[in-house]
Amino acid sequence: MWSATILTLYPEMFPGPLGTSLSGDALSRGIWSLEARNIRDHGIGRHRAVDDTPAGGGPGMVIRADVLAHALDAGVPADDTRPRLLMSPRGRPLTQARVRQLAEGPGVVIICGRFEGVDERVIEGRGLEEVSIGDYVLSGGEIASLVTLDACVRLLSGVMGKEASGSEESFENGLLEYPHYTRPREWEGRAIPDILLSGDHAKIARWRKEQSERLTRERRPDLLP
Ligand code: SAM
Repeated sequence: MWSATILTLYPEMFPGPLGTSLSGDALSRGIWSLEARNIRDHGIGRHRAVDDTPAGGGPGMVIRADVLAHALDAGVPADDTRPRLLMSPRGRPLTQARVRQLAEGPGVVIICGRFEGVDERVIEGRGLEEVSIGDYVLSGGEIASLVTLDACVRLLSGVMGKEASGSEESFENGLLEYPHYTRPREWEGRAIPDILLSGDHAKIARWRKEQSERLTRERRPDLLP
């Protein structure tokens, strides 16, 4: 079973939206499992402190290396082969190719940062892979980890219906997806392109490819070779 272990200061945020729809159904069918572990259980002293002021000064607080390493070591055995991801705006941007690799593996361990982030030494010492979900700053890694999990779980075998294999979706072939239409044939004066109603599958495939290329050129030229 594909398994996810999340280290967070807010375990109550899980499974959150992943408990509904496709991912929730797959969770209850045992296609994947989710364990959210509270970093604070490994905090220091009566107040279970997990953070401290940044060395060198500056604003905010930093999650301590010793606390996070303890939480990780207690929840994830050293011989666990799952990739250990640290959600971080500084990380390598998450791509559909990386999502597919993760979905094909045994699962993931995801660490959710808070405050200014985590002590650099735990990133090095525990071989964490920093992953960003985009060029903006969230208040914590929890929503980023829900995004990462959702992208992976929908690719697991038996999660999506066979009509939606995901193979034609945006990014799968380096292009954005073509436009979709459904009934009614005409809506507010806008008609479905004739070609899609022609029944000529070769022409439809060509039209869709042209549309994909046009949209990618207009919106995401960075994706083109
Ligand atoms: N001081 C950090 C910086 O400038 O890079 C931002 C810290 S942010 C307020 C707190 C936490 O939210 C981060 O440690 C990370 O876990 C998470 N986070 C914020 N933005 C993210 C993004 N774009 N992708 C992934 N995680 C993010």
